[in-house]
Amino acid sequence: MLDICDRLPEGLLDLESDQLYKIFERPTLIHLQGDRQPPLFVSILLHGNETTSWLAMRELLRKYQNPIQNQSLPRSLSIFIGNISAARYRLRHLPNQPDYNRIWQTGDSPEHHMAQQVINEMRSRGVFASIDVHNNTGRNPHYGCITHLEKDFRKLARLFSKTVVYYTSPKTVQSFAFGHFCPSIVVECGQPDLPEGTAHALAYVETCLNLESFANLPDSAIADINLFHTVAIVKVPEEINFSFDGNPHDDITFPNGMDCLNFCELPIGANFGKAKTDRAYLSAMSEDGEEKSDRFFQIENGEIKLKVAAMPSMLTLDTDIVRQDCLCYLMQRM
Ligand SMILES: [Zn+2]
Repeated sequence: MLDICDRLPEGLLDLESDQLYKIFERPTLIHLQGDRQPPLFVSILLHGNETTSWLAMRELLRKYQNPIQNQSLPRSLSIFIGNISAARYRLRHLPNQPDYNRIWQTGDSPEHHMAQQVINEMRSRGVFASIDVHNNTGRNPHYGCITHLEKDFRKLARLFSKTVVYYTSPKTVQSFAFGHFCPSIVVECGQPDLPEGTAHALAYVETCLNLESFANLPDSAIADINLFHTVAIVKVPEEINFSFDGNPHDDITFPNGMDCLNFCELPIGANFGKAKTDRAYLSAMSEDGEEKSDRFFQIENGEIKLKVAAMPSMLTLDTDIVRQDCLCYLMQRM
């Protein structure tokens, strides 16, 4: 279920992300020639509703396709356009599909096979670096996530933002798979469709295309990184009802506007919502998949409180995303 081509189809750059299905029937990998080798790999729309990735790449390609400027790409570029059928409906993924950023380890579905094909194709080309562009649903600063701490990964991250998150789970994500054979990163560009997110992603990819080598970047370039480590992924257990607007029938009521806590380092005792009963708990999974709710949360006088100092990220007010993915991640400074 993968198409591979080596030029841009006519009319592609006139399309919005929800129109790409008119040209591409399935996930597509496009190899474009540039002045330097090996290619930079950029994956976009792994989540169909995260439009910034397409908006940024469209703008970049328009610039380098412009016949008047006649500029060649400074480095070869391979673009993987992921979940085109979900993008059509501006959904993360369709109900009958797996999450396209959870298919990058071996598995039996057609999507798993497709992901392996992309990996093999890029691995055989000796890819320079891998950039996976995403959006958040909640309010977050722009930041990069890396799965390895080697210098080249930190350099790749610092070119995007001072704020860097290190994580090693889930291992089924694209950046983890590519991290085995090239520096790789996920860049989180704020909420979809915002011009500042598009501009930032575009400038970043262009910087990486112009980069001669990571060795050429001095080590001092990464001295000022704020590096955080994911310590838990917080979910609302399936059997527990919740809301953000104070419905008295729900087991948990989260504070309204809670996503303003993203990337705030919170003290012990910080409030994570109201619990109707002691039965209403938040699940907190450590990176190795162990339930550590007791280490991170306690209920005191009907309030869910943080038991350790931690910093949330990707807190979202979108109840569907909370159900499909998670409430947030908890991080600590490294
Ligand atoms: Zn995403």
